[in-house]
Amino acid sequence: MTDREMLILAAKAGRVYIVPCTCSDPRFPFKFDPAVYKNEPGYTGHWNPLEHGAQALELASHTETCIEFGSCQESAPIVTCWPASEPEYKTSRGNFPDSRVATRRTIVESVAAAQLRYIEICGDD
Ligand SMILES: [Zn+2]
Repeated sequence: MTDREMLILAAKAGRVYIVPCTCSDPRFPFKFDPAVYKNEPGYTGHWNPLEHGAQALELASHTETCIEFGSCQESAPIVTCWPASEPEYKTSRGNFPDSRVATRRTIVESVAAAQLRYIEICGDD
């Protein structure tokens, strides 16, 4: 799954309304849909929870994703996430390259995996 595909699934799971961004910055393929978020401060500009910690946290909270941090063993994951609706879609990541990057990516991956599973069972709406 590409990052782009993963972001589309994660947005759907978090009920975030996005549209492709036309600025051509490869790190930010999407932005908040301005037609939906007309007068909502904080919901303008790019949306990419792989890059933006607050957006990742909001995605985790909207999908009731459990986030577990920490390990006293170097080889063990520093972050493990699993959405409440699909606890088997647990995703873990080590402290590489950066714990903040790892945390954001783990949240998005687990939410996207759970959403893909939901679509397989219930269909896409
Ligand atoms: Zn852009």
